[in-house]
Formats: sequence, structure tokens, C-alpha cells
Amino acid sequence: MSSVFKFADELGPLKVIHVHEPGTGLKGVLVVDNVACGPSIGGVRMAADVTAEECARLARAMTFKNAAAGLRHGGGKSVLLGDPKMPKAQKEILVRGFCCALREVEQYIFGPDMGTDEECMGWVKDEIDRAVGLPRELGGIPLDEIGATGYGISHAVDVAREYCQLDISGARFVVQGFGAVGKHAARFLSGAGAILVGVSDSIGAIQNPDGFDVEALIALKAAGKSVIEYPGAEKLDGDRIIDIECDIWIPAARPDVIHEGNVDRLNTRLVVQGANIPITYAAEKILHDRGILNLPDFIANAGGVICAAVEYQGAGEAAALAAIEEKLRRNTREVLEAAQREQILPRDAALNMARKRVEQAMSYRRWHTF
Ligand code: NAD
Repeated sequence: MSSVFKFADELGPLKVIHVHEPGTGLKGVLVVDNVACGPSIGGVRMAADVTAEECARLARAMTFKNAAAGLRHGGGKSVLLGDPKMPKAQKEILVRGFCCALREVEQYIFGPDMGTDEECMGWVKDEIDRAVGLPRELGGIPLDEIGATGYGISHAVDVAREYCQLDISGARFVVQGFGAVGKHAARFLSGAGAILVGVSDSIGAIQNPDGFDVEALIALKAAGKSVIEYPGAEKLDGDRIIDIECDIWIPAARPDVIHEGNVDRLNTRLVVQGANIPITYAAEKILHDRGILNLPDFIANAGGVICAAVEYQGAGEAAALAAIEEKLRRNTREVLEAAQREQILPRDAALNMARKRVEQAMSYRRWHTF
């Protein structure tokens, strides 16, 4: 029996499908976790070392993220074994083969994730028509180009700041990871009057208490350079991004960057999680005890999947941005109100909210199942 079943509970997973095609070397796994809210949406992760267990955990995370965002979609995820940088022709064979093998599983809609991109989704659409995150020519909304997740983060910040008596104008913020999520969050927040005082990428970090020109940083990255090449900036080791004093700290890079061993170094009033699982639960508890407001990942970074769901309905960029704004503001408020009222961590409030929505959706199903 698959070890994935050790994760099975009253919410899912509904289906676990292993795909193996010896002729092409295709090996992959699909986990459809829960479809009570509708057909599941989740990305295809391609990496040499992905496992079925990782897939199951990510599928559950999508169940909660989609339910929390109030989307008509359940949670699923798939993983494809292989080096994502393999020759394109070989990758195309694997992606096309994988989706064809899953053609009949209508409860899963393919999306991009680590190791796959909009071109891959174009191949999936060509084969089975069930994909989001498509190229613009196929009706896609390029979510990383428009900054869907960063846009959502800026709205989450704008609501959360009320709960820690912070003005956005002049608020000093730090971004760890200046990629698709981080740079757009910085762009929208600086547009609202906040000041970027620290930023990092995989090469290193820089700080300036007087603030950086975000557009100049974006241009630097577009030229293939690191943020540390910003003229005249004070350079730091990448890890020192944690110590920079600020009002808002935004992790937008890797998982588990804040843990019990370094959480005490954070010197901020508000944390809004752009990356997935950037802070361990133990560290979140410490932040809570220190009175630092901390908005969890699946509430704060839902902009991307909301954009994908809007795309799937055939609507355009303006509708996507309107949906992100409305949902992010409402959910941030609901989570922070509940956390305050019940004196619990925002993550627990968010999980309670998402679980309740999934269970309610399940109650409408004939057999009360996922
Ligand atoms: P990306 O690859 O575009 O950017 C990641 C950035 O982080 C890059 O600038 C990279 O240099 C930097 N980085 C890598 N390692 C670092 C380190 N150790 N310290 C500091 N910076 C480092 O990726 P992205 O799409 O911006 O995603 C970032 C995170 O947000 C991931 O956890 C992803 O799962 C999550 N996320 C992304 C989206 C989305 O819409 N793209 C949506 C939800 C969640």
C-alpha cells in the first residue's frame, strides 16, 4: 500500500495515482486530495527527488488554500520525476505523456509549479484541455508577469497593518527573495508609500534605512544581475536579512527560513508570508508570544491561484485583480479577527476557517465524502 495513506484522514486524499511508462522513463504521481468545493487545481512539480508523500502534503495545502480563498476548486497536486532542465524535447514528451495518462481524471486541473511553466501548460491544454497558467496567446493571464501574488500580498498588508496600528505611508519593509512574488510585493507596497529598507536574493542582501528605488532594483534583476549590485548599497550576507529592523518583514523565497534558532532575530511588527511554509510552526508560536502579527502563507499568497481560477473561468486580467483584492482583504480580516477573538495563532484561525469551509462543502455531497 502506498505510504501516502499514512496522511489519510476525514478530508482525503480522494485519489492517489501513480503513473509509470517504462518506454519514455515517465514516472509521476497525482494526488487529488479533496473535491468537495469543485475540481481540484494544483501545480505540477517537476524535480529529480520529488516523492508521493511530498505530493500528498502539497495537495492538502491546496485544499486549504483554495477553500480559504473561496474558490470553486478543491485541492490536488502532481509530481513528475526528472531534472526540469532536461532537453526541452524530452521534457515535452514527459509532460504530454503524464497528462495523457491522467486524461480521464477530470477532478484535477493542471497548473504550473516548480520546474514547470506556462509553455508546459500549453502542451497540457493541447492534449487534454484542462490547464491553468497558460501562455497569453491561449487565453492565459501571465500571473508572475502581472504580479498576481505580490498584488494580493499588498492588500493583505494593508488590512493586517490596522491590527498592529501601522501606517502604510512611511512603513519600512524588508523582502527576502526578489523574484516573482517579492519584487511585485515591493512594487505595490512602495507604490502605496511604504519604504523598502532591505532586500535579498540567492546571492546576498543589501540594506539602506533611507530606502531603495524598487523600479531600479527590478531593472537590475531583469538585466540578470543580483540585488547586491545596486549602486552604493550596503552589502550583507544573505542570512542577515533577518536582522534588519523594519515594520513589515516579507519572506518570499524558500521554506523554513525562520525557525526556533533564529526567530528571535526578527525585529519587526508584522510578518506577511509570501513564500510557502517559510516559518516553522514553533517559530510562529514564538512570534505570537512576542506580539508580532504574522499572516500565514496560504492566506497571504493566494493571489496566484485566484488568478488561475479566474483564468479557468475564461475571464481576463482585470477580473483577476478585482477577485484577488476582494478575497485577500476579506480573508485577511476574517483570519485576524478570529485570531484576536479566540486568542489563537493566525495560522490556527486560518486552518479552522479553511477546514470549516471544506467540511461545509462536503456536507452537500451525497455521501458526505470528499
Ligand atoms: P522565483 O524563483 O521567481 O523567486 C525566488 C527568489 O528568491 C529569487 O530572487 C531567488 O534569487 C531568491 N532566493 C532563492 N534562495 C534564496 C535565499 N536563500 N535567500 C534569499 N533569496 C533567495 O520564485 P517565486 O515565484 O517568487 O516564489 C517564491 C516563493 O513563493 C516560493 O516559496 C513559492 O512556492 C511561493 N509562491 C509563489 C507564488 C507565485 O505566484 N509565483 C504563489 C504562491 C506562493
